[in-house]
Amino acid sequence: MNARTHRRFEGGPLVIASHNPGKVREITDLLQPFGAEVTSAADLNLAEPIETGATFAANAALKARAAAEASGMPALADDSGLVVAALAGQPGIHSARWAGPDKDFRAAMQKVEDELEGKEDRRAHFACALAFCWPDDGQGSHLEAFEGAVHGTLVWPPRGTGGFGYDPVFVADGHDVTFGEMDLAEKHRISHRADAFRKLVDACFG
Ligand code: IMP
Repeated sequence: MNARTHRRFEGGPLVIASHNPGKVREITDLLQPFGAEVTSAADLNLAEPIETGATFAANAALKARAAAEASGMPALADDSGLVVAALAGQPGIHSARWAGPDKDFRAAMQKVEDELEGKEDRRAHFACALAFCWPDDGQGSHLEAFEGAVHGTLVWPPRGTGGFGYDPVFVADGHDVTFGEMDLAEKHRISHRADAFRKLVDACFG
């Protein structure tokens, strides 16, 4: 698609369609230079839609649409997860679910490690789909979508207390520290979310 056909965000209120504090923090940081008045779906007490999509992109789109409709504001959603090569892409879109109702990522990381037992291939990537949806202005809603990735290797045991989710077991290619040990600014520079974000910014914020 030609960059000129993208819809631009002109500033003002923007809702981050997430109830995940780690994600809201990262996206708020990434949005900081663009004059958005940021709130989150959690702040607004919006219901969390059920993620029925079969892909990261489909789930990001449904979350962004739901938040834009419920709030009347442009909404930005992220659907992301850990894609493990030797596990046929799992946990993938089920990355949050592997942590169970208590969001226990120690247990989720352990589950990945258990499933990898006996397998030599420890390659994985984090994938991120971003969907940015403007609410219906009488001519229908408008959706922009972007994807990003960061490739790396899984390590065991987990290392570091920064970041969130599976960060302590992921080492990005060309680095020695896990995302859990990495300075947050550095993670923001190289992450799957940063990759997708650069595409969003070029298209909609430039
Ligand atoms: P979602 O809310 O369905 O998109 O869930 C995404 C899940 O993927 C999160 O709960 C984390 O488990 C995992 N995830 C996504 N991005 C990251 C990241 O940057 N670091 C670690 N885990 C991540």
